[in-house]
Parts: sequence; structure tokens; C-alpha cells
Amino acid sequence: MLQFEEQTTPSAGPGLAWQAAVTAVQPDAAEAGAPDLRRVNVADKRIINGQTDVNQLVPFKYKWAWEKYLSACANHWMPQEIQMSRDIELWKSPGGLTEDERRLVKRNLGFFVTADSLAANNIVLGTYRHITAPECRQYLLRQAFEEAIHTHAYQYIVESLGLDEGEVFNAYHEIASIRDKDEFLIPFIDTLTDPSFRTGTMESDQNLLKSLIVFACIMEGLFFYVGFVQILALGRQNKMTGAAEQYQYILRDESMHCNFGIDVINTIKLENPHLWTTEFREEIRVLMVKAVELEYRYAEDTMPRGVLGLNAAMFKEYLRYIANRRCQQIGLDQPFEGATNPFPWMAEMIDLKKEKNFFETRVTEYQTGGALSWD
Ligand code: FE
Repeated sequence: MLQFEEQTTPSAGPGLAWQAAVTAVQPDAAEAGAPDLRRVNVADKRIINGQTDVNQLVPFKYKWAWEKYLSACANHWMPQEIQMSRDIELWKSPGGLTEDERRLVKRNLGFFVTADSLAANNIVLGTYRHITAPECRQYLLRQAFEEAIHTHAYQYIVESLGLDEGEVFNAYHEIASIRDKDEFLIPFIDTLTDPSFRTGTMESDQNLLKSLIVFACIMEGLFFYVGFVQILALGRQNKMTGAAEQYQYILRDESMHCNFGIDVINTIKLENPHLWTTEFREEIRVLMVKAVELEYRYAEDTMPRGVLGLNAAMFKEYLRYIANRRCQQIGLDQPFEGATNPFPWMAEMIDLKKEKNFFETRVTEYQTGGALSWD
């Protein structure tokens, strides 16, 4: 409270820019019915470096962002709605899963339990501050909550199965294949979360764009996919179906995060074509190739002997296929020409309909706002 009062004094910093706007308006012009200069003109809105008031959601310019916000809300789910008793029984029965399958599950959770926390930090402490379109900010708020739900889901699986929490939550320090992926990402997250980072120059705007591409196309768009395939493949064999259903909901959310990020990236490109230089495109291509290598090493480490009819060669092909797709989505040449999709069934996993899910382990339906009772 004290801090808030201090911030409202005339010596307040740049964080309270709206105050300056209030005093800049001529009182007599407002009285005469002249247009208020604070009103947002839709043509002036920009995804980055915008000068319009970020608190005025409408008039809409970026309708796609608003639509994604609405779709994300319609997809709402919570981890505890999913029945985990079959998973617990299977995990605790000595012959229920092979040692390779158990390693896969533990390594998988080892990556994901901290990954969505990194994603949440990146949004809340980084990206959100630098995006000046309120429609996009609205989606980012929803996305941040979804990252929290995902961390909750992984924690819920770890707790349900009675796994060693210290081991799972420290895997990103202790397991090389996981640590290498996170170490690749962290400099790009640090760029955006650095309190002194400001957009508005060629260099800083390119750094922002690069971090957005790494986050959407590599982290959410590539680094999550070996893990998703593995757990969903277990579910398809009728094993760990509760965990698989959790992952199916997460995959649907993440697929939208990735698509939203790609729309943001492409709109920034349209509004700032000077950022998309030959050198910049080459830098992204190199990052994409490096990311495929890291994710492939993670695949090998999680399943050294192959498991569930999956093997490392299939993952190499799959990662190349996804990297091509991400590059194509942001207008880059495909780095791995001719790569094909060895897991076509993943498409039906993403197109999950809330009313009917693949594993059918969900026990309760989400209570929507309209169904709430205050009695
Ligand atoms: Fe995400």
C-alpha cells in the first residue's frame, strides 16, 4: 500500500506514463467536444514499439489474438479432473512397466516439470512488457495461466506416482540432455527478462524477434515434441492413460501457444520488414539446426534402446519434419528437405475435442462460469 502511494507522487517513473497523457490533454478542447487525443486510432496500433494506450483493448486491430484468447478459454481444463488411479496401480505393480518405460517417464517429467515454469517466467517477466498490442497482451495473460496449469499437471503426476521429487525437479540441473536444452534457451529468456532491455533500436528489436522465435518455434514448437510423442505413445498402448490424457490437453494448449507466437512473429515482420535481414535469417536457421541436434540427443537419452515401437531414427526424422514446418510457418527455407512425418497419429491428438477425449479417463466436466452458484 505504502509503495503504491509513493508511486503516485509526481516523481513517479516511466512506469506511469498514462499520468503524463492525462495532463497533456487540453481541458478546453475536451469541453468543446473535440476528439480526445487519448482515444486509440486502430491504424496506430503496433505489436512492438506502439505508442497507443495499452489499456484500451478495443478498437480491435489484431482480431486473431482475441480469437485465440477466446478459444483458449473455451479449452479450459484442470489437472485434478483426470483420473490417475489406473496409472498409480500400473506404476506400483512390479511388472507393470519395463525399466526402459519407467526411465522414459521419469526423464520426461524431469524436463517438463521445470520447462513450463521457464515458459511462464519468459512471458510474465519478459515478453509481456515488450508487446504493445493489448489484444496480444490479453492472450499472453491466458497463456501464462496455462503454463501454471501445465506445471500443476506435471506436479500432480509426480505426486500421484510417488516419484522422488528431488530427483525429478532437479533433473534440469543433473541430467545432461535436459540441462543442455535449458542452457540453449536461457540466454534468449534472459534477453527479455533483463530489466534494462528496451526495444526501439535495430539491434534490440532483432533480439526481441529472435527470442520470440526461439520461444515459440523451438521451445514450445520443437523441444516439447519428443516428450509429447513418448507419453502419448504409452497411452496408445493403454499404459499411463491418465498421464497421457494430461499431456493431450497440454499438447492442445501448447499447439495454440506456438501458433499464437508464429502469428506475433509474422505480424512483427510485416510491420518491421527491415528486421528480416539475410544475416538474421541465417542466424535463425543455425539455431534451428542446433535445436534439432539437442532434442535428438534428449530422445536418445530418454530411450537408449528404443521402446514402445519408437526408436531414435524415427525421432530424428520427426524433428527434422517439425523444424521444416516451423521454418515454413515463419517464412524461412526448410533446412531438412524431404523430411516426412513418422507419427501421423499426432495430428489427431492435437485436434482433441473437449467432449470426447481419446483416453476417456476424465471424471468431471469443467464447471463453467455460467454454471456457478453463489448460494
Ligand atoms: Fe506454452
